[in-house]
Amino acid sequence: MKFKRHLITAALPYANGPVHIGHLAGCYLPADIYVRYLRSKGEEVIYVCGSDEHGVPITIKARQENVSPQQVVDKYHGMMKESFAAFGISFDIYSRTSSTTHHRTASDFFKVLYDKGIFAEKVTRQYFDEEQKQFLADRYITGTCPRCGYENAYGDQCEKCGTSLNPTDLVNPKSALSGKTPVLRETRHWFLPLDQFQEKLSAYILRDHKEDWKANVYGQCKSWLDEGLQPRAVTRDLDWGVKVPLPGADGKVLYVWFDAPIGYISATKELLPEGWEKYWKSNETRLLHFIGKDNIVFHCIVFPAMLMAHGDFILPENVPANEFLNLEGEKISTSRNWAVWLHEYLLDFPGKQDILRYVLCSNMPETKDNDFSWKDFLAKNNNELVAILGNFVNRTIVLTQKYFQGRVPHAEILTSADLHLLREISAYPSKIAGCLDRFRFREALAEVMNLARAGNKYLADNEPWKAIKNDEVRVKTVLNICLQISANLSVLMEPFLPFTATRLTSILQMPARRWADASRTDNLPDGHLLGEAVLLFEKLESSIIEKQMDKLSAGKKSGGHTEPGASITDFQKLDIRVGKIIQAEDFPEAQKPAYKLRIDFGKEIGIRTSSARLCANYTKEQLKGRMILAVVNLPPRKVGPFVSEVLTLGLPDKNNECILVEPEKSVEAGGRLF
Ligand SMILES: [Zn+2]
Repeated sequence: MKFKRHLITAALPYANGPVHIGHLAGCYLPADIYVRYLRSKGEEVIYVCGSDEHGVPITIKARQENVSPQQVVDKYHGMMKESFAAFGISFDIYSRTSSTTHHRTASDFFKVLYDKGIFAEKVTRQYFDEEQKQFLADRYITGTCPRCGYENAYGDQCEKCGTSLNPTDLVNPKSALSGKTPVLRETRHWFLPLDQFQEKLSAYILRDHKEDWKANVYGQCKSWLDEGLQPRAVTRDLDWGVKVPLPGADGKVLYVWFDAPIGYISATKELLPEGWEKYWKSNETRLLHFIGKDNIVFHCIVFPAMLMAHGDFILPENVPANEFLNLEGEKISTSRNWAVWLHEYLLDFPGKQDILRYVLCSNMPETKDNDFSWKDFLAKNNNELVAILGNFVNRTIVLTQKYFQGRVPHAEILTSADLHLLREISAYPSKIAGCLDRFRFREALAEVMNLARAGNKYLADNEPWKAIKNDEVRVKTVLNICLQISANLSVLMEPFLPFTATRLTSILQMPARRWADASRTDNLPDGHLLGEAVLLFEKLESSIIEKQMDKLSAGKKSGGHTEPGASITDFQKLDIRVGKIIQAEDFPEAQKPAYKLRIDFGKEIGIRTSSARLCANYTKEQLKGRMILAVVNLPPRKVGPFVSEVLTLGLPDKNNECILVEPEKSVEAGGRLF
């Protein structure tokens, strides 16, 4: 490949609401899978994203809620960032367009184009609210639709009949700010003459990328180009956004579609203040934009035209856009609250992010719109994750514990069926890579499951639980091969199911492996000691379907997502237990000084690991034997090479260093906090 490094972006989500499954399946999940795969191959890659925080809808929301636009974006930026992190979306940076770096970057970008004489300057007449003393964005003007007579049509569209409108088309226009009739006033704006880039864009898309872009993306671009491109205003009369950096342009900001994609550049600058240019200005970088289909025109036509006009930057090499995900056969709608919100899923299914990642990936709307249903969610968990993947790994580990004290047995004599399977196993990494390289995520995931299926079949064919009675040598070989498959699965599933992969790696006690290692069949050497068997997935009750469907129809009636905030039931979901520290070790690989703890939580929970920043107040010796409190049912976290399974609770001392919470009187390990 001629590229040395990859710059992966996912569409900047708009900061006026939380994130739902449609967003996740549209671009954040496919981009994350792709990035994790590249990292596993050892490629140089960064994954950048951030909140899109400008534009009229933010100002409308701020007015409705009687807060400032900054307060609106602070709230949703925080929520989105948390949801993405909780689902393992592994951005190298999640920035925001209200940052100073972005304002400077976008402003400089505009200035370069302005100085080059790219923009056309035009004076147009627009509605002005004399009482509020400001020009009105299209959405701030309502009136009667000239087509259908609907009285509450917006300045850009009638929602009743769907006609797109200009504000001056409306009969009896009214300002949404004051309710008064607005007047037309002259105002000056700058336009990007897309028509002048028609030829260059045609060559770039229709000639250079006819073969490698997805058919849905290429088709949409072609129809835009066939229609003929028109100049587009890049500025607006608004007081929220990146100010137009020209004298006499007070009260004008960059139009949000112009400033938002520059956010990718700003985010890279924030991530790599010294090294960002090698990502944006070198032909050795492969720039990929993951987006939903509603953003195709901006990423394939408008942004490339801006980049061409500027001249310093590379163009996107590919824009693997997805179609839309529907929910229970209906279009996902934020305003009707027909959505599954990520922050609500986390409360209903704590620690089960990988199930949703799995279901969304296997239904990903890659080539056409696709559907998410709770019935399918349940079936995929119970019949695929539990019955195939989980069952195979669990049987393998449990049998190894039982027959060989948890040590990897030596493969003795290989049958021709064994040899055939070993060859098949070795072929999986390149098979899956072949799908991922073409952005076929569903197929790639199906291949991972096929490897687990092959393992399951091999177990069933060889029945080690029967063979152990008279042929231990055969059982050794069978379990060795099953363990190697499990090891390879942990590597190959990681892009799709990162939390489960971490769990499995920890069960196998296997050091970090790269993608290519998954074609080996000796990742677990003879005699290697495995950890405890833990179930990777659990069956879900069919009652979850009814519960989630009730929630959807209730939400539809009330029309608004529930705000985050904990209820008593949420609190009760946290399993906080008393444990006894049985071992404390140094943790030199941790970013901040910490210990690796082993904590005994009694019979029911057993021994769990925890990374804890206790070095400031305790020595290792002082920790041993102490009783502590910890949350034991959060998803395990990977801290460097170590898997932290429980969250040890503490209090801040006056230097904000951790002090342990200890029971006042003597208690038993395993007791649950109430
Ligand atoms: Zn109408």
